[in-house]
Amino acid sequence: MRRIAVMNQKGGVGKTTTSVNLAAGLARAGQKVLLIDLDPQGHASIHLGVEAYGQVPTIYQVFTGRKKLTEVQQLACENLWLAPANLDLAAAELELVDAQNREVILRDAILACEDQGAFDYIVMDCPPSLTVLTINALTAATEVFIPLQPHFFALQGLSKLFETTALVKRRLNRQLKVAGIVLCLYETGTRLAADITDDLTRFLEESDPQSPWAQARIFSSRIRRNIKLAEAPSFGQSIFDYAPKCTGAEDYLGLANEVLATANQATRPHAA
Ligand code: ADP
Ligand code: MG
Repeated sequence: MRRIAVMNQKGGVGKTTTSVNLAAGLARAGQKVLLIDLDPQGHASIHLGVEAYGQVPTIYQVFTGRKKLTEVQQLACENLWLAPANLDLAAAELELVDAQNREVILRDAILACEDQGAFDYIVMDCPPSLTVLTINALTAATEVFIPLQPHFFALQGLSKLFETTALVKRRLNRQLKVAGIVLCLYETGTRLAADITDDLTRFLEESDPQSPWAQARIFSSRIRRNIKLAEAPSFGQSIFDYAPKCTGAEDYLGLANEVLATANQATRPHAA
């Protein structure tokens, strides 16, 4: 089971769009996928048409030990399950401040259901921060995907991501690796996009072989700017249901195929 954390502490870079459409792309290829919404804003849940109000169980209850993961996940479309989130999750950050082993709650919840769930992929949509929810995703993950919008400030936040992933690898999850960077909101043919891509390539080439970034690459599927991708969430549909012929669907299908093509080297996470 491959477990992908989609993270970047910046907002608006394409994390949720990538999480939802990558998960949907893998599901369409016949993989069993669980998408875990880890953002209290609940954007991934809304994107898949799930409104997590009232009695609907959410990932918050998993973090507070009240429910198992299998009790909160729901089928969103064929082969794709969702563990939804809502604003309650913001409270979890505070409630967990003093909890023991608070960084491994999600990993343990996934392991506890591993035999029943039989998912091929778990995709985790992280919030735009490096707080305990993101640390949980990194601890539970086998690999990290970093969506990035190629503009002038894009590289600024990378060193912080570098530090955080290295720290989690050292302390909590020896097998953690950054699989790569997904270029989102890509403007084809612009000088700036090409320059930033070159800078990124250099940055990755220089990373320490011991670091989780040693094998990181830029995914060759570039996610072009496409208005359909921005419209799909308000219809509660992945891009494949909303506009299957648009460039956004083409780009995310390409990314899903790239992910499927990389050998599955994932193993069970071991306890820290
Ligand atoms: P994050 O989860 O990192 O905050 P989102 O995935 O929510 O980022 O994307 C931010 C905004 O940009 C959203 O309104 C989303 O619909 C839009 N968006 C994301 N990717 C694209 C794209 N390739 N083309 C057009 N709009 C996009
Ligand atoms: Mg988001």
